Amino acid sequence: EGSGEQKNYEFKIVLLGDRGVGKTCLVLRFIEGLYNARQQSTIGAFFLTKKIVTARGDTCKIQIWDTAGQERFRAMAPMYYRNAAAAIVCFDVTDESTFNTMKDWVEELKTNVVDKNLVIAIACNKADLETRQVSRARAESFARSIDAIILDTSAKENFGVTELFVAVSEQVIQLR
Ligand code: GDP
Ligand code: MG
Repeated sequence: EGSGEQKNYEFKIVLLGDRGVGKTCLVLRFIEGLYNARQQSTIGAFFLTKKIVTARGDTCKIQIWDTAGQERFRAMAPMYYRNAAAAIVCFDVTDESTFNTMKDWVEELKTNVVDKNLVIAIACNKADLETRQVSRARAESFARSIDAIILDTSAKENFGVTELFVAVSEQVIQLR
């Protein structure tokens, strides 16, 4: 195409949401392309990094912050999401209570984050399961009300995961 030069970006994405919703599995699926049904609660690092190239050829070095067993709502210090360009708030579509925690997290972000450009995305994870409790329509209507990206994801069956991280990254770039 040749319209303008490619740029390099570097930013931080944090994952939030109840324990067990699949945050670590989503990160590992995205970064390593792997899935482990017995995923341990910690990946032993504050963050992992991954480089992606967008459709228009920009390079993003993404720092992905996963929680290590501090998921209990508000146990997480605001320091965790400080300076984040985006937050991916995850819930398990087969567990209604995790949907409510997701909404609490969004509320917390809206209250505490001064950066109006914070990108918020909702991962409706375990969308491969048939015992869904939270419908797609319901999740979408919430997402629309807060102007968030939303995607059905499955770390297990590998759908929506790369799409989610790419959509988030492209929105981050647009706001820069
Ligand atoms: P975290 O506590 O939010 O980090 O959750 P984990 O990533 O440790 O995932 C908890 C468990 O949920 C995993 O051990 C998997 O067995 C299961 N799990 C994670 N993602 C999926 C998914 O997309 N589909 C299904 N069916 N199970 C998943
Ligand atoms: Mg985890």
